[in-house]
Amino acid sequence: MTVPALPTAPTTAQIREQFLHFFESKGHLRLASHSTIAPDPTTLFTVAGMQPFKAQFMGAPARFEGAEGIHKRVTTAQKCLRVGDIENVGRTLRHCSLLEMLGNFSFGDYFKRESLTWAWEFLTSPDWMALDPSRLYATIYEDDQEAYDIWTQEIGLPADHILRFGADENFWPADAPLKGPNGPCGPCSEIFYDRGPKYGDDTWAEYADTRESARFLEIWNNVFPQFDRQEPQPDGTPTLAPLPFKNIDTGMGLERIATVVQDVYDFYSNDVFAPIVARVAELSGKPYEGPQSVSHRVVAEHIRSVSMVIADGVQLSNTGRGYTVRKILRRASRHAYLLGLHEPVLHTLVPLVVEAMGSAYPELVQNQARVTAAIRSEEERFLKTLEQGTQRLDTLLSKLEKGAVLSGDEAFTLYDTYGFPVDLTKEIAEEYGIGVDEAGYAESLERAQELARAGSKYGKSELFGGGASVLDDLAPTEFVGYDELDARSRVLAVLAGGESAGHLSAGDEGTVVLDRTPFYAEGGGEVGDIGLLEWPGGEATVRDTTKTKGGVFLHTVAVVRGELKDGDDVRALVDASRQATERHHTATHLLQAALRAVLGEGVHQAGSLVAPDRLRFDFSHAAALSAEELARVELLVNRWIQADSPVNWQTMPIAQARAAGATALFGEKYGDVVRVVTVERGVPFGDHTVTSMELCGGAHVARTGEIGTFVIVSDENVAAGVRRIEALAGEAAVQWTRAQLGGAQRAAALLNTSPEGLTGRIENVQAALKASEKEVVALRRQITQLQMGGGGAAGGAAPLREIGGYRVAALKLSGIEAGELRGAADTLLEQSGADLVVIATDKGLVVKATKDAVARGAHAGQLVGKLAAAAGGKGGGRPDMAQAGIQDADAALGALDSSL
Ligand code: ATP
Ligand code: MG
Repeated sequence: MTVPALPTAPTTAQIREQFLHFFESKGHLRLASHSTIAPDPTTLFTVAGMQPFKAQFMGAPARFEGAEGIHKRVTTAQKCLRVGDIENVGRTLRHCSLLEMLGNFSFGDYFKRESLTWAWEFLTSPDWMALDPSRLYATIYEDDQEAYDIWTQEIGLPADHILRFGADENFWPADAPLKGPNGPCGPCSEIFYDRGPKYGDDTWAEYADTRESARFLEIWNNVFPQFDRQEPQPDGTPTLAPLPFKNIDTGMGLERIATVVQDVYDFYSNDVFAPIVARVAELSGKPYEGPQSVSHRVVAEHIRSVSMVIADGVQLSNTGRGYTVRKILRRASRHAYLLGLHEPVLHTLVPLVVEAMGSAYPELVQNQARVTAAIRSEEERFLKTLEQGTQRLDTLLSKLEKGAVLSGDEAFTLYDTYGFPVDLTKEIAEEYGIGVDEAGYAESLERAQELARAGSKYGKSELFGGGASVLDDLAPTEFVGYDELDARSRVLAVLAGGESAGHLSAGDEGTVVLDRTPFYAEGGGEVGDIGLLEWPGGEATVRDTTKTKGGVFLHTVAVVRGELKDGDDVRALVDASRQATERHHTATHLLQAALRAVLGEGVHQAGSLVAPDRLRFDFSHAAALSAEELARVELLVNRWIQADSPVNWQTMPIAQARAAGATALFGEKYGDVVRVVTVERGVPFGDHTVTSMELCGGAHVARTGEIGTFVIVSDENVAAGVRRIEALAGEAAVQWTRAQLGGAQRAAALLNTSPEGLTGRIENVQAALKASEKEVVALRRQITQLQMGGGGAAGGAAPLREIGGYRVAALKLSGIEAGELRGAADTLLEQSGADLVVIATDKGLVVKATKDAVARGAHAGQLVGKLAAAAGGKGGGRPDMAQAGIQDADAALGALDSSL
C-alpha cells in the first residue's frame, strides 16, 4: 500500500501552529507542552491541557517561567496520555492513547462569550480552518441559557444544531452539582462536526438519545468553571455559588481536527499516521483496509504513545507509569503478532514517529536511541513469552481431536501467564480445527479481576489511613525518640488484623499502640524504626512503625515470648540501626545544600528515602550531572562532615521558619508550628558559605562528624527534569567503597594488570573475542555446508526418498546449534526439491514441509511429535514448520519410515 496523497489541506504541524498563532493574535501567551508525566504527584499522566495550570485556576499569580509579568491568557498544545482510552484505540475511530490537546485558557480574564466566538472564528473563518459552518453542532449544559444565547443570537448557530444535556455530559467535573467534589466547577459546551452520511445515516436529533455516533464527531470542549460547589442544602438542592474569578479551559484534539480538516477517512489516514500504517502494511504484507483493520491501527497509534512517554523519561517496569507503558507496548506487540509479524519490528517504526513529531517535540529526537533500545528489548522479551505460549498451545491442541473445544480455563492461563491474547489462541486453534470456549474464558477473566479487586481492598492504607474505629478514640502518641532510644511506655491498644484484640500471645503478629514511644514512624522520607518491646516474662520484635493521620503511632510487632496485653508497662528499645538512619538523614540535608551550591538554586527536592543502609534523593534538574559536578558535591559534603558542626533543631511558628529562610518541600502541607533542623556552622564554597536549614520532622545526628564519610553511588534520570542520587554514609559508605575496590582488584588480577590498566586490557580482550566469534561462525557454516553436500547436486548428502507418497530428504548434522537448524532446513528444502525435509542432531529436530505438501495433507507438527517420541523428546508445531528437543538423532531418523 502506498501513502495516500493528501489533499492540499494543512498538515497536522501546520494546524497546531495555526491554532497557537490564532490565540497569540488574541493576546495569549504561548507556552510549551508539559511532559506526559503529570505535573502533580497524585496523578500518573497528564490527561488534559489545563493540568499544568491548576494553581493559576485556583487564583495563584499567572506568572510563567521565561515570560515577564502576569499572563492571564495562555495557549498550548499539550501532549496527553489517557490510560482510560487505551482499550478504545483501534476499536473506535476517535480515540488515541496519546493525544495532543490544543487549548486556550483564561485565568480570571475573558469568559464564555470570547471562548465560544473565538472557537467559531477559528473553525469557520476562511483564513483559519475554513470548515463549513452548516456542518457544526454544539451541546450545552441544560441550564446554561447564557451559552445558548451566545450560540444562537451572537454566533448564529441554528437552534436545531444545539442539544442540551445534563451534568453527566456537560459539566466539569461530571455530575459535580449533585455529587461533588466541592470547589471550582462549571458547565461546558462541546462542538461537533458532521462527517456526513459516509459514516452513518443517524441525525443530530437522534444523538440526543444515542450519544454515540461515528458521524457526529466531538472536536472541541469549552469548559466554563464559574461556580464554587459547596455542600448541598439539607433537602439535597445543589449549592453552586458564583466564583468571583471565572476561568476558561478549552481542549481540542489535534488528531481529530486534523482528520476533519484533511477530510480523510480516519486518524490513521492523516499525515501523521498514514506513513506508519503504510509501513505496517508493507512489513506484514496486509493492506490497511479501513474499518476492520484494528491491528494496523493499534500498532501505529501505540508506537507513537510509547515512544513519547519513554522519551519523557518513563522506564518500563511492573508498577505505576512504567507498567502502563509496558501494557501499551505489549498490546501493540500482540497486534503485530496477529498481523503475522513474529520478529521484533515495533522499534523499527520509531524513526517514523520521530519524523512526524520530532520538530514539535525535540525530546523525541534527543532520546531516539534510548527509546528504540527500550522498545526493542521489551519486544524481544515479550515475543519469547509468546513463543513459549505457542509451544504450550501446540502441545494442548495436538492432544485434542478435531472439532473439540479448548477450555476457557486453558485459554485464560495462556493469557494470564504467557500474555497470549485469546484472539491469537482462537486463530491457532482454528488451524487445528479446534474451537475455544470463549464464554468460559470471559468467566475466568472476570473471576481473576474480582480477586484482584478484593485483594486491593485490604491494603495497609485502607486499614489504617482511614482509621479503624479503635484508633479514632486514641490521642496522638507522644514521640520521645529524638533524644531517647530506650523508653518506658504503656500499651494503650493491641490490634490484630486491624481490629481490637486486647492481647497477643507468643507467635502472634499484630499492631501495638503506646502512650509514648521512641520509635520513629515512617514519614518525610525516613523509614520507620525497628527494635524490641520488653516486659517481665516477655518480648516482642518491632518490625516497622507507621502512624495514622491523627498522629497515633502503630508498631507492627511479632511476639517472641510471653503475652502482651492492653495496659501492660513495657520497655521500648529502638534498634541500633537508627544511628545509621540518622547519619543518612543529616547527610541528605547536606547533599541538598551542596547540590544547590554546585548546580544552582533551581534544585528542589522532589522526594527522598532515608534508610539505615542508604539514602536516595530526587530533585529537579534537567541534565545528568557531570563527573566533575558529582565530585564537587561529594567533596563539599565531606568537608562539612570534617568540620564537625553541631546539628540543632527547634520548633517555631511556620512564618518565622520561612522568614529565617528554611527550605521547605514544595506542595507539602505543614502545620502552624514546625520543626526546623539547622546545621549550625556552614562550609565555605567559593566566595560564600553554604548553609543548611530545613523544615524536617526526622531524626538526625548531633554533630556532622558522626556521619564519618559520604559517597555518591549513582545519579540517574527518573522522570523528565527529575534526577535521583543514591548515596551512602558512615560504615555503609566504607563497605561499599571497599567492595568496589575489591572487585576492581580481583578483575585486574584475572587479567594480569592493575585496576588502572583494566579498561585498556578489556578493550583488547573484547576485540580478540569478536574476531574469534566471527571465525567460529564461519567455520560452523562450512561444516554444515560440507555435511549437506556442499549445495551442489539435488539432495546433496541427503538423497531423496519416497515415503508415504512424499519426497523426503532427511539428514543428520553435528556441530550445529539449535538456533541454526531452521536455516539449514530452509536451505535443504530449497536445494533438494523435496516435499518434506527432516534435519536431526543429538539435541534437536526440525521438520519443514512445502506449501504444496501441506495442501496434500502433510503436517510437520504431527511428524515431529512422532519422531521426537522415538528419540526421547517432545515437540510440535505448525503444519509447515515444527521443532523439537531430542536426545538421539539416529533414533529419530530411524522412525521416519514408519511415521509417514
Ligand atoms: P470522548 O467522549 O470522545 O471520549 P471526552 O469527552 O473524553 O471525549 P474531553 O475530555 O472533553 O473529551 O477532551 C477534549 C477534547 O480532546 C475532545 O473534544 C477531543 O477532541 C479530544 N479527545 C479526548 N479524548 C481523546 C482521545 N482519546 N483521542 C483523541 N482525542 C481525544
Ligand atoms: Mg473520553
